[in-house]
Amino acid sequence: MARVVHLGQQVWNNYHQTAACNLKSRIELANDEQPNGRAYLKAVAETVQALLKEAKQYQIPVRPVGAGWSPAPINVIEDGWLVETLRLNRTFKLAERNLHADCDLPAESLMLVQAGATVDEVYESAEEIGRSLRTGGASNGQSFAGACATGTHGSVWQEGGIQDHVRAVQLVTPERILWIEPKRSVLSDDFIAQTGSVIIRDDRIFAAAQLHVGAMGFVTALLIETDPIYMVQNIQKAAKIKREHIDWLCRGEFRKFSGAFGLNEEPYFQQLILNPFDPFDKKALLRFLYKRPYDASIPPPPPGQMGAGYDALTLLGKVMANSDLFKAELLQLAMEQAYPDNRDVDDPPAIATWGHTTEEHSPIASLFNGSVTMDRRKLSEAFDLIIDSFRRGGGGTVVTLRFVHKAQGLLAPAHWQDNVVIDFDGPNVESSHSGYKKVVEALDDAGIAFTRHWGKTNNLDQQRVQQDYDQDFADWKWAQAQVMPDAADRRVFANDELVKLGLI
Ligand SMILES: Cc1cc2nc3c(=O)[nH]c(=O)nc-3n(C[C@H](O)[C@H](O)[C@H](O)COP(=O)(O)OP(=O)(O)OC[C@H]3O[C@@H](n4cnc5c(N)ncnc54)[C@H](O)[C@@H]3O)c2cc1C
Repeated sequence: MARVVHLGQQVWNNYHQTAACNLKSRIELANDEQPNGRAYLKAVAETVQALLKEAKQYQIPVRPVGAGWSPAPINVIEDGWLVETLRLNRTFKLAERNLHADCDLPAESLMLVQAGATVDEVYESAEEIGRSLRTGGASNGQSFAGACATGTHGSVWQEGGIQDHVRAVQLVTPERILWIEPKRSVLSDDFIAQTGSVIIRDDRIFAAAQLHVGAMGFVTALLIETDPIYMVQNIQKAAKIKREHIDWLCRGEFRKFSGAFGLNEEPYFQQLILNPFDPFDKKALLRFLYKRPYDASIPPPPPGQMGAGYDALTLLGKVMANSDLFKAELLQLAMEQAYPDNRDVDDPPAIATWGHTTEEHSPIASLFNGSVTMDRRKLSEAFDLIIDSFRRGGGGTVVTLRFVHKAQGLLAPAHWQDNVVIDFDGPNVESSHSGYKKVVEALDDAGIAFTRHWGKTNNLDQQRVQQDYDQDFADWKWAQAQVMPDAADRRVFANDELVKLGLI
């Protein structure tokens, strides 16, 4: 069994202090020493199942939590058990003999990851064995299961979300310990049996479990696929863009855009942070990452030169720690001051592994984060509408444009072939909320389809989720019922937000 530490009744706040709850108990799970990866997975799953059984018996709602980084109230539970996973953070290599005969992936590409391993810990473990993740979010402190739960993504335009790395999920319900894979088997039946799990091999159920929003059971481990290790070169700068550049991005002319501001080659990653009060007369913050072969002799440059830590949340948080004011000029000052040193095309190259492109984050203030995801080809049509309505709503956030390929998971917000994600990050004040609401209304009025981030402020409800995901939502519900046929099992995972979303 794993260790269960009861920390008792208390008030708990999520990381952004956007939601709080009164807990019956905060419970921390931790590993006990085990002989191998399978034994770790089995011990933890059995411990979790025992907790869930007890919760079901006494009708106590349970909320598994990773880093608690989601600003949306999906990670809180009133009068229930909050079960923390961050100390379930081991990662394990696989051997060829652990794979199923039908598996077409090389063993060295696979890693077993416990649910609470942070994204940073996974980056590090992967690098130690000469591997790398393909994409990730702007920071790296999320738990791997929590990041997958909401479809965390960055701006690698040929990749989807972090959940795209997942090849199998160990899910625990009050009645069962399940190992969920796609129809095409990945690990051998014998290996899976030693994790204490019963196998489900089904494409739809797997796609539902890849992005589970915390409503498919308790994830205790994930099997992920990695790439051979690579490096990226960072270019980051403040520069004025023109309206026509938005049209280039809309058409996916990334190489052309990169040629105008960065290197004359296809970027692996590109991101723009704009001042919505004056997007073309004031400088935007641009960041490009270009793929490079791994070279162990290159020492990693200081984090600032790799752009680490300058996601919009971080840079706003830094300024908001010193000032309550939030006006267009101040916003620009904030953007440019908090942005690390320029690393332009003429500067000595800053090159490091993927794991060095993000850094740790500390909570600074109550922040607002909202986003809309849409078909990238709608960007030109939506851009002015978004900026105008945001300003009419008195918004007070920066606006970030990120680009993502169609992501895996039935409930992936990035469900168009190519997506643009438009983020709104700023202080958690009324103007940020009203600006975001105006954007949502304007897109609806214009008939432009979009989805919203599960982990951020999103004002969603069941009707809207059904409308946005349609058959995928129906399939997700079907999959959930296969995993937890008994409604009493599903109720163990109920919280107000997930019920409102129609996910429980
Ligand atoms: C500084 C910062 C930067 C961010 N940057 C980005 C970004 O670049 N891109 C992006 O897309 N998002 C970003 N986000 C949002 C963040 O990545 C997501 O909200 C992510 O889901 C948080 O992971 P977590 O481990 O904190 O999950 P939590 O907030 O703890 O949980 C999220 C959901 O998953 C459930 N859950 C957690 N663990 C389990 C488990 N083991 N089993 C079952 N359910 C579980 C929870 O109950 C909850 O429903 C950022 C957030 C912050 C604070």
